[in-house]
Amino acid sequence: MKQMIKTKKRGSLIIISGTTCAGKGSVIKKVLEDNPNMSLSISYTSRKMRKGEEEGVDYYFITREEFEQKIKNGDLLEYAKVRYGEYFGTPKDKIEDLLNEGRDVILEIDVQGAKQVKEILPETILIFIVAPSMSEIKRRIKARGAETNEQILDRFETAYREINEIPKYNYIVVNDELDEAVKKVEAIIISEKCRVDRIEEIYVENKEEIIHEFLMGKEYDNSVKTIDEALNQEKEDHTN
Ligand code: 5GP
Repeated sequence: MKQMIKTKKRGSLIIISGTTCAGKGSVIKKVLEDNPNMSLSISYTSRKMRKGEEEGVDYYFITREEFEQKIKNGDLLEYAKVRYGEYFGTPKDKIEDLLNEGRDVILEIDVQGAKQVKEILPETILIFIVAPSMSEIKRRIKARGAETNEQILDRFETAYREINEIPKYNYIVVNDELDEAVKKVEAIIISEKCRVDRIEEIYVENKEEIIHEFLMGKEYDNSVKTIDEALNQEKEDHTN
């Protein structure tokens, strides 16, 4: 049976950004667990690997020179100097392959990167995740510990700058309760799939045929017949 509505097979590209301590890592982890058809893009970075991080899992860790070579080669969908003057960037080819396979791809990138991707691929879904309040951010930073005052200051400055960029996003999710935030992100992705602009084709069968079949209880036959064939057909219909 041919389906009435045929939608684009291509996967959705979803950018998730957020202020410091918004918990976007936990939200993304849960969304990926719930949705096996989704992939997370792994970025390149020139920053040093931290304790507990893994090559090819958290990032592809490369040198500044290697990163600059990737920029020159046009290997990146977007890139930015996000923090501490270090480069972060999204590999282009892998994402294209995943989207063509129909997989949804999440990019966890900053506001500068989100802006660049939206310009190139306007159908990208931009989601911004925030902590419920500035005092909650303060509490979460303290609880994390292990950072110098300079690094904490840098986090706050970036947070204030990024909050000004929220109007450029399509959706905002407050991460007060992890499960609720996950539900919201998943609902956004599902509703984006139902957008009318994802329709590729609407197929409706020939109206006359459908009506005929309803009224006569038999298939519509528009082939040209000889008189004898038509009479035989009549007879057959009567005996059935
Ligand atoms: P970190 O990993 O140092 O804690 O934070 C990295 C920051 O860079 C986060 O805000 C993250 O969203 C952002 N980021 C990670 N990967 C990329 C990327 O490929 N491109 C851009 N523009 N930002 C990224």
